Amino acid sequence: MGSNREVSGEFTHRAAAVVVATGGIGGNEELVRELWPAGLGTMPDSFVHGVPASVDGAGMLAAERAGAHWIHQQRMWHYTEGIRNWDPIWRGHGIRILPGPSSLWVDARGNRLPAPAYPGFDTTSTLRHLRTTGHDHSWFVLTRKIIEKEFALSGSEQNPDLTGKDIRQVLSRIKPGAPGPVQAFLDHGEDFLQAEGVPTLVAQMNALAGEDLIDAAALERTIRARDAELANPFSKDTQITALHGARKYLGDRLIRTASPHRLLDPKAGPLIAVRLHVLLRKTLGGLETDLGGRVQRADGGGALPGLYAAGEASGFGGGGVHGHNALEGTFLGGCLFTGRQAAVGVLADLR
Ligand SMILES: Cc1cc2nc3c(=O)[nH]c(=O)nc-3n(C[C@H](O)[C@H](O)[C@H](O)COP(=O)(O)OP(=O)(O)OC[C@H]3O[C@@H](n4cnc5c(N)ncnc54)[C@H](O)[C@@H]3O)c2cc1C
Repeated sequence: MGSNREVSGEFTHRAAAVVVATGGIGGNEELVRELWPAGLGTMPDSFVHGVPASVDGAGMLAAERAGAHWIHQQRMWHYTEGIRNWDPIWRGHGIRILPGPSSLWVDARGNRLPAPAYPGFDTTSTLRHLRTTGHDHSWFVLTRKIIEKEFALSGSEQNPDLTGKDIRQVLSRIKPGAPGPVQAFLDHGEDFLQAEGVPTLVAQMNALAGEDLIDAAALERTIRARDAELANPFSKDTQITALHGARKYLGDRLIRTASPHRLLDPKAGPLIAVRLHVLLRKTLGGLETDLGGRVQRADGGGALPGLYAAGEASGFGGGGVHGHNALEGTFLGGCLFTGRQAAVGVLADLR
């Protein structure tokens, strides 16, 4: 066992029932690196942390030392739209943008990402593609009009209207203007750049990257080609087609998708570039359990007496129940379900 697995904590079997509910491994950078999935290339050197350092896998590691079977260790889910928090709560704190569909997504050299790597489409395939580009970051290029309508930020502290259950504040999302937390990133976030034209924006992008990676004329051609497709009713640009599709649904039209417009339309400006980092977040594998949350032995000998697991530590139930391409936003449900099932298992065994 490598040193990065030596997180403190051992299980003794004095207690009748121990439920491991310590979350995943996303805050343990060394362990994530050791287990990084082969299909995703190499782990980036530069990234942001989407969970606190306490999510270090201590419970799973201790269970493994006690003989538990930790399956699908390579299954993990990391986001590609991470921004460095200007007001961090934990070390290297990154926030995930929950993006609407309109931003132009380009790699570190300014090349547009291929379909289906559009904002909010397919996280894992986008990550797979980005790991082939030779750089750790990518960019959203958008307009003020898009950021006002389409940027939402993940995390309870970024959504005071929802966490405060304030219906009036929630409804204010329909109003024009950027939501307060998004405006704060525009004002203070190191990854946010604004300019009136492409050459100035690209000069800022290259300065932030510390290298002249993007050619301003080439990026302007890419933007103009995208903008030209807006006038084509038979456009084969699948992102433009998706914009029109999203606008047909009232919910998206009201708060998630800006009316389609040219990125170079001065009325929609200024132009904005947002540098995106990989954001370490979720663990999809975990301690193998049965439907009563009983942790299974690595040697195939059945359940380990008195040891149960729930939540992300159990791969949301049994070890990777969501599969490789877990559906966005379904994690909490699995945590609640496996917590319930573990309680049922403990009660049945204590009777
Ligand atoms: C910002 C953010 C937004 C998210 N948004 C969504 C979403 O919209 N939808 C969705 O489905 N999922 C979302 N998730 C994922 C979801 O929150 C997690 O998968 C879920 O919280 C995991 O629950 P858990 O109880 O297994 O672990 P956790 O919530 O990580 O809780 C583990 C607890 O164990 C404690 N702990 C760890 N080690 C030890 C130790 N050695 N001793 C004692 N205590 C320990 C930790 O302090 C923590 O309190 C989000 C996650 C984050 C970080």
